[in-house]
Amino acid sequence: MAKIHTIHCKDETSTAVAVKALSQAILGFYADQPKNAASLFVSLDGDLGAGKTTATRYLLRAMGYGGKVKSPTYSLCEEYILELPNHRELQVFHFDLYRMQTPTEWQEAGLLEHFDHQDGQDRVTLCIVEWPQKAEHTLPTMDLAITLAHPSTPLSELARTIDIAAMTAKGEAILNALTTP
Ligand code: ADP
Ligand code: MG
Repeated sequence: MAKIHTIHCKDETSTAVAVKALSQAILGFYADQPKNAASLFVSLDGDLGAGKTTATRYLLRAMGYGGKVKSPTYSLCEEYILELPNHRELQVFHFDLYRMQTPTEWQEAGLLEHFDHQDGQDRVTLCIVEWPQKAEHTLPTMDLAITLAHPSTPLSELARTIDIAAMTAKGEAILNALTTP
């Protein structure tokens, strides 16, 4: 059974706070890697408007990215370069597979290489995937599977539930380090 951490957010600000805590656990994971090599795969599930892109925006901002984060709805993938503490570069690939007509369209678009991380390779990457189910089973195993939802008894339009499931040992290390208010 995957380990799951659930966070209840009453509004967008509390989503930002939750995502900031997650960003700290992720940065801790990269900092713990002995070499300049690490990759992390995170999926984001949830209906249209659940807050997947919004959460990604807060995550990148919390990791120090100051630029614009636009939804990859049309491009399939947006790329960002962030500077980690100790001057390492983190490449972030933000996917949105919603508009794909076939499960392998993302591969045909040449995006497979973003997941192609060999241990020992001098590269630190983070792949974030909205609408992973559109790829059916063609994606690699995600380390964290995050689901955003409106709570079943809506307290307000702004409330969200965030479930973070660890699917691998890496994901579990991050969840173990995650402290949310
Ligand atoms: P998705 O990528 O899941 O389709 P978006 O992030 O594009 O969704 O849109 C979510 C919308 O919901 C945004 O307009 C955001 O401002 C709003 N919103 C309201 N409350 C929250 C919350 N608690 N967490 C995240 N987004 C929220
Ligand atoms: Mg989106």
